[in-house]
Amino acid sequence: MVLFCFLVDQRRTVRSSKPAAGICSRCGGCASVADMVTATRFCCVPVYRRTWRAIICTFCGAVLKSYR
Ligand SMILES: [Zn+2]
Repeated sequence: MVLFCFLVDQRRTVRSSKPAAGICSRCGGCASVADMVTATRFCCVPVYRRTWRAIICTFCGAVLKSYR
C-alpha cells in the first residue's frame, strides 16, 4: 500500500475563484466560490481529471463546502 500511495499523485488546483458570503470555520478568513481541478497521476501519467466547484477559504485554503 505504501508503494501504491507513492505512485499515485493527486494535485488540487484552483482554476478561478470569486468572493462569497461567509467565513472560514478554521481561521475566520474570507470564503470564496472556486472552480477546482483535481488531477490524478499514476507514475507521472495523468489518468484522471475532474473539475468541481467548492467554497474555499482564501486565507488557509480549507474546503468549507463542495458541490458535486
Ligand atoms: Zn481559513
